[in-house]
Amino acid sequence: MCESGEVDVNAAEGWIRAIAASVGEQADELTRLDAAIGDADHGTNLRRGFTAVLEMLDDLEPKAVGEVFSAIGRTLISKVGGASGPLYGSAFRAIGAALPEPSADDQQLLAALQAGLAAITRLGKASPGDKTIVDAYAPAVAAFERERSWSAAADAAEEGARATISLQARKGRASYLGERSIGHQDPGATSTALIFRALATTLQPPRKSPS
Ligand code: ADP
Ligand code: MG
Repeated sequence: MCESGEVDVNAAEGWIRAIAASVGEQADELTRLDAAIGDADHGTNLRRGFTAVLEMLDDLEPKAVGEVFSAIGRTLISKVGGASGPLYGSAFRAIGAALPEPSADDQQLLAALQAGLAAITRLGKASPGDKTIVDAYAPAVAAFERERSWSAAADAAEEGARATISLQARKGRASYLGERSIGHQDPGATSTALIFRALATTLQPPRKSPS
């Protein structure tokens, strides 16, 4: 099957570099979204975190694919302030802990991503519909489980992020706004969609058209 394959240390690093590039490109947009319902730092927070992650990767000599993700989790927790640092950091640490082998197949990566989501909900206590990271992350893993396609997961994450526009925030800083949080896309759900799109573009090369 063209879509599946082994995720080794190189593929994991490729995914993370793609996230860092995307976060760098979209940092101003993420911060603009956070200015509307938060404190205007989500893009700067993540850019600072993934810049530190890239520096950390240069010195890392991982033997298992999970070591890459565990190291990223630690870096994000120490470098990113705010709510999103501990949440994304603990997700990557959980993903790392779930992948002790040199490489992982799609099923193992799915299970690891589910462990990452569980870490986020354990720490943040958000349910679907609370206008958070969970509203992009949960549909993404559900879509992969159903369709076995990382593109479908990324599409579902983007759709989930867009659907936060009409939601009222019930967790995090945006919840202080009450009903005034309605009408704005959640920054964390938006960055989660970037993370899943980066995964899809890294793991799933575009289909060759039949010649
Ligand atoms: P802060 O809110 O501390 O400034 P960021 O701006 O970096 O942190 O991140 C804000 C994002 O964090 C929100 O848009 C939301 O998606 C996410 N978030 C906040 N609280 C929670 C939570 N309890 N569970 C899941 N995600 C959350
Ligand atoms: Mg913020």
